Amino acid sequence: MTATCDFDVVVVGAGPVGLVAALLLAKQGISVLLLEKERSIFPLPRAAHIDHEIMRIFQSIGVADDVASSSEVSTRYEFLNVSGDVLMRFDTGRAAALSGWPPSNMIHQPSIEHVLRARVAECDSIDTRYGTAYRHHETCGEVVTVHFDTQGKASQACCRFLLGCDGANSAVRANSGLSLVDLGFSERWLVIDTKVIDSSRLPRHNLQICDPERPTTSVRMGAGRHRWEFMLKAEEDEDRVSAPAFVANLLARWDVDGAVELERTATYTFEARVANDWMQDRVLIAGDAAHLMPPFAGQGLCSGIRDVENLTWKLGAILAGRANTSLLFSYQTEREPHVRAMIDLAVMMGKVVCVTDPDLALARDKNLIETRRASGDASGAIPNPKLGTGLLQATSNIAGELFPQFTHKGSRSDDLFGHGAWLIGESIGIDGNTLGAAGVSIPSLSYFSPLVSQWLDDKGYNAVLVRPDRVIFGGGNAAELITAYADGLYQEARVVA
Ligand SMILES: Cc1cc2nc3c(=O)[nH]c(=O)nc-3n(C[C@H](O)[C@H](O)[C@H](O)COP(=O)(O)OP(=O)(O)OC[C@H]3O[C@@H](n4cnc5c(N)ncnc54)[C@H](O)[C@@H]3O)c2cc1C
Repeated sequence: MTATCDFDVVVVGAGPVGLVAALLLAKQGISVLLLEKERSIFPLPRAAHIDHEIMRIFQSIGVADDVASSSEVSTRYEFLNVSGDVLMRFDTGRAAALSGWPPSNMIHQPSIEHVLRARVAECDSIDTRYGTAYRHHETCGEVVTVHFDTQGKASQACCRFLLGCDGANSAVRANSGLSLVDLGFSERWLVIDTKVIDSSRLPRHNLQICDPERPTTSVRMGAGRHRWEFMLKAEEDEDRVSAPAFVANLLARWDVDGAVELERTATYTFEARVANDWMQDRVLIAGDAAHLMPPFAGQGLCSGIRDVENLTWKLGAILAGRANTSLLFSYQTEREPHVRAMIDLAVMMGKVVCVTDPDLALARDKNLIETRRASGDASGAIPNPKLGTGLLQATSNIAGELFPQFTHKGSRSDDLFGHGAWLIGESIGIDGNTLGAAGVSIPSLSYFSPLVSQWLDDKGYNAVLVRPDRVIFGGGNAAELITAYADGLYQEARVVA
């Protein structure tokens, strides 16, 4: 695809977000240089939960079954007070959610990264350099030159776009003059990861124990692991809380001696931050490089993977000459409101859990118990907010929502419908050239046809146009949809009206 560049895209960081980005780009035939400063997978405990939408994205890059085999479906998430009363309960269940996968899936992040690395190794269009650190870059016209070094040996490569997936301390972000805005949440926690010996002695559901003396999290993870997290007091420093006696004391009330084996501990400061700008010229940032959130909603990694799902098809359309580079402005305008909604949810949950004043905790308990009595429990997947303004048909009330993935006797509709954008509906009379120019296909619905027709009827539309990231561009007349979508890809303005 490139005439004058070594690579179409350089991705910095082979954490989960960078790995998924590289795979989503490679799927479109885009050449990628993937730089990772470490040789091994980051071993410290982090993400434990991914949602249905992330499983669908994993499905699209061919790793969902491997991920599912080392993960565990979570059916309930509870917030309890110190007496064991339920303050909040989320019944997620096992049934397939909108994306065709269970709402809530517990994972062991290093195991997932192992699966992703193996998949990357199979892709000829990804040149992966482990043990190679990005240093700096400069942009000249349409070319970004990236400087990096491997064991002290300096090198460089030029590309059309640079994508920083280099985590919370992103050098790509700093070198691009971008910065994170503090949204005002900061709490230190100790994370204790264990290997499970006897799962029958562990809590069956994910729990937040809203104990003002010691706010605590207990989460099931995939791959035979269980995690506890304990909020730290100001005077408790890292050395003290990592000591075996301190850890044993924290776990004592869970009565799991002999049921688990300590794997490792780590302290984290849980924060909420979002980058002011997510793009500078031809340089973009995604994942923890662009936003941080406390882990109470299990959405930090999920948000990063949604970022690259949103961004990579746009890069693909631009590199294939089917879209103007101004399409990239829609990356932040679409994603930031979604990310902020997830940060708000995580901070709301964090503020429920992290109360340390006993009187305030009593008032919180009373309030939440009354609310639960009046409103009942939430069920199903957590609400998935619509995207913000961007390449969406503003007149359509379903624009920006996720298009469902239908399931039938173990089959999933995305596998049948294929990659790229879809125009789906009744008697669509649009010629192949028009569709091809916009990168849109009319998939054969086969045995999913009755389910799709029912969905269209329920929504009240004859046709829908679904973007490659499975977000609905809009619904209505097929010819008008394809015209508006094609215009949106090419137009110079920042957003589609
Ligand atoms: C305790 C805890 C629990 C969490 N639980 C959840 C959860 O349940 N669900 C969820 O969705 N999220 C959760 N998260 C958040 C999640 O772990 C992160 O959002 C996710 O790891 C971010 O992925 P990333 O790829 O953006 O960044 P990282 O995983 O940080 O990867 C960045 C990569 O870039 C590399 N890198 C950095 N600088 C350079 C450089 N100069 N050159 C080359 N490479 C470089 C790093 O070595 C690293 O491999 C949790 C986080 C914590 C701390």
